[in-house]
Amino acid sequence: MTPGNLQERIALVRSRIAEAASRAGRNAGDVTVVAVTKGVDAARIREAWALRLEDFGENRVQEARIKAPEVGIDARWHMIGHLQTNKVKYVPGLFSLVHSLDRIDLAREMQKAGDRAGVSIAALVQVNISGELTKSGVPPCEVISLMHALRPYDRIVVRGLMTIAPACDDPEETRPVFSRLHEIAGQVGQEGIDRVEMKYLSMGMSQDFVVAVQEGANMVRIGTAIFGPRNYGDAAGKVSRL
Ligand SMILES: *Cc1c(COP(=O)(O)O)cnc(C)c1O
Repeated sequence: MTPGNLQERIALVRSRIAEAASRAGRNAGDVTVVAVTKGVDAARIREAWALRLEDFGENRVQEARIKAPEVGIDARWHMIGHLQTNKVKYVPGLFSLVHSLDRIDLAREMQKAGDRAGVSIAALVQVNISGELTKSGVPPCEVISLMHALRPYDRIVVRGLMTIAPACDDPEETRPVFSRLHEIAGQVGQEGIDRVEMKYLSMGMSQDFVVAVQEGANMVRIGTAIFGPRNYGDAAGKVSRL
């Protein structure tokens, strides 16, 4: 069980991030906490906002479309789940960052949506480091070729990489996944591709964010450790626990 109230849990997450960042010689202020709000109602999200969380992550477009106006605050919404091409039309004006760009089909739809709305779409390329078949994401060896293949889609601005580590009981086991993503970001950066910058490394969830921050994460996606356990089915069909 997750102890404490919302305020205490947020404070605990922040202090663990600060400790991990300082151990890695970095500044806690450089780490963006994306509070994952799937299954969390609008009133509770407003509470989290009042406690100075400003970035919220949803894994379903439909849920975000309903909740964002209900929450009614000037928050930044992140699309962190698998994005279906037929939902991309809702992205402009709703999400500030898509964490799950993982295929050219999706880029093509994002380009169309960006053209229609007259805006750029900021995205992270999702990488499947562990090779688990149930997870989306580009295999590591295809990341650089995908970045080059995005060149014609000038509405897309790539701002970094995202990964989901396998759920391990011991977060130490996920360390190589995070360090590998960091390493790939360095390789992509060296390519010097237009509209591709490696500003954000989105990695780390409730179970493993400390290790992720130690390995260079500057965006962590945290649900359970902030809001407590909820009963949602995530991509792997499991119920989140802590
Ligand atoms: C649900 C989810 C999270 C947060 O998971 P917790 O274990 O509840 O912190 C992070 N990233 C993605 C992609 C998710 O779907």
